[in-house]
This record gives sequence, C-alpha cells and structure tokens, in this order.
Amino acid sequence: MRLVRLIFILLMLGGSFFACHRSQQKPSVILISLDTVRPDHLSLYGYFRKTTPFMEELGKESVVFTNARSQIPITVPSHATIFSSHYPSELKLVDNGWKLENWDRPLLAEVLEREGYQTAAVLASSILERYHKLNRGFGSYQDQDFEPKIPVVKSEEDQKRTKKKRLAQDVVDRGIERLSQFKPGQPFFLFLHFYDGHRPYIFPQDWKKPFQNDAELAQYLESRAYLIKDDYDQVNDYDNSISYLDQNLERFFRYLKDKNLLENAIVVVVADHGEGLGQHNYYRHGLHLYEEQMRVPLLIRFPRAEHGGARPGAQVSLIDVAPTVLDFLKIKDRMESRGNSLLPLMATLYIRPATSGPGSPTAPSAVLRCPFVSAPPGTAPRHCSAR
Ligand SMILES: [Zn+2]
Repeated sequence: MRLVRLIFILLMLGGSFFACHRSQQKPSVILISLDTVRPDHLSLYGYFRKTTPFMEELGKESVVFTNARSQIPITVPSHATIFSSHYPSELKLVDNGWKLENWDRPLLAEVLEREGYQTAAVLASSILERYHKLNRGFGSYQDQDFEPKIPVVKSEEDQKRTKKKRLAQDVVDRGIERLSQFKPGQPFFLFLHFYDGHRPYIFPQDWKKPFQNDAELAQYLESRAYLIKDDYDQVNDYDNSISYLDQNLERFFRYLKDKNLLENAIVVVVADHGEGLGQHNYYRHGLHLYEEQMRVPLLIRFPRAEHGGARPGAQVSLIDVAPTVLDFLKIKDRMESRGNSLLPLMATLYIRPATSGPGSPTAPSAVLRCPFVSAPPGTAPRHCSAR
C-alpha cells in the first residue's frame, strides 16, 4: 500500500514538473506577409465586398491596427525593414535586386534562432530569393521550386513573373509540412510569404471567382478616383485574389487550431506595401508614396486571443513588428530596433461603448484615457470594459 502511495506521489510530482516545464516554454512566432495587400480592399477593414470573411473572424481574436504603414512600397527593402527594424536607407537596401550587405546587427530570425527557436520560411516569389541575404537565421528557406506552368499570361514581363510565383495553396501546404517537422516541446519561428495580391493574378483552374467586374464595382472605383478604367477588370481580379488568399489563410489557421499551436504562439499578419490599382493614375507600387501604396493591414494575435477585437488607430509601422515580438517574448533586442514595441499601447486600449446616456461609461474622461481607439460600435474586446 505504501509503495502504491509512493508511486502516486511521484506521478503527481512528475506531472506538475512537466506541466511547469510546458508552461515555461516561450511562445512560438508565426509571421505572415501578404505581399501587395492594401487594407481598404479587405472587408476586415470595411471594404464593401466580402473579400475576407475569415480575416474578419481572425480580427475578433487579434489586435487590428487601423493606421499601419510601410517604410517603402518595394518588396525586398520592405521585408528587410520588417526583419531588421531599421530603415532602408540605414540598410543601404532601397530597391529590389539589392542585397543586405555589411549589416552586422542580427535579423529577427537570427535573434530567435540564438534563443533556441526552430526557424523556417516559405516564400511565394523568387523576388525574395536568398540572393538578397534576408534568409539569415532561417534553418530552412524555401525559395525554390516555384510552379513553372501556371497559365494566364498577359505580357512577356508577367509571364516571367508567373514562372516564379507560388500560389497560396502551395504556401499553406509547405507551411503545414514545416510545422509537422518541427520538434515538439521547442518553440519555432515560421515565416510565410503570400504573393497572390501581386500581379499577375492567378488562380487554380478549378477555383470559382466570387466577384465579377460589374457596375457596382465601377461605381465604387469611380467614386474614389481609380483613374485607369481599362484596368477595372484587373482590380476585380485583385479582389478575387484576396478572397482566394483569405480562404487559404482559413485553412492554415484551422490546422493551427486543430494542432493546438495557437495556444502558445504570437501571430502577426501584415503586408509589405499596398498597390495603386489606378489611383493617382498608377496601377502598381514602388514609384510613389501615396496612401494606397503605403498603408498596410496589421493584425497581431496574442495567445488566448488576448485583446482580441481591439482596433487601435495609433500610427504604427513595419519597423515596430520585430521589437513588439521580442518584447512580448521577453527576449533582449539585440537588433537595436529603430521601431517601438507596441505592447505599451495595449495598456491604453479602450473600446467606446455602443450606446451612451446619463451615467454611461462614455464620460469624456473615460474616452480620453484611451486615445488610440477607433473601433466600430458593439465590438468591445473582452478585456475592454468601460472604466
Ligand atoms: Zn511586395
């Protein structure tokens, strides 16, 4: 009997040791870059078309920044700012085709790798191939094997690009494969890059487009000075691409939930820059600093969906991403980030109640206490009660 009791006590002690060990494991990090995705074409940010039903749900579990900006509307230098938290001019990397040379501070993946993180990246375009040296710190960097035979080609240039593009479906498949190969019990950093929002817009042949280039779209675009009417069909396919992307993100997050990987992870969803789509008489990105090219979506999902549904309107930017992640993980910022951690902002979050009246918590002092909020009524996150 005494032996049985001893075994029982040992089992209890062992269980609590492992439980304690588990709880001490640092959160994993998932960084998702949606290349060329501008926030005002996401229904998450109020677009009139239902382009992102999944991201709307994700937004309820995340902090959704409504005023985030890129440092530069060009893919390689913009991703360099995300990974380094420094400005392109400091990095001496201001255009595609340039590489990160003579930069002795670590990048985010290098910092995390040194902290014992397993690291991997899946790229959706050869635009970010390792030639640019942004693969530093990634144990695995999948910048090869792009699909060579995707149809739909408009120009010779597009055809060249088409050959080097990977669809969201493939990115998600590879991301899931990476996750399944990570050792359990050790935190990981996974970077996924999606290129569906970048021309040429390509879809699987069996995928049905939800949106057509119709009068309602034309009316919307004309009212907002999308000046290149010949490209309205392209804008329509931009929306279709975002819808396709959203569906694949849903599949990826479903996997994360099924495998219980969200419980102890911080997930950041962001874009490197926007797209002209014909506003200011310019379709693409990279030549101007107009809002449509500089504004980006930014969502941060914390473990247990903490702060979920908050929509701070403070101006933030891509160089704030890395220091926020490191601050959350309580890891020393050896990158000497130029950006700021956004965590102090969380302490100021406050949601404006949907109704007001005598004695209601919409008293000016309560609102002033939380100056960053621009949330739609009735979407109060759990932690945000009126104070
Ligand atoms: Zn880009």
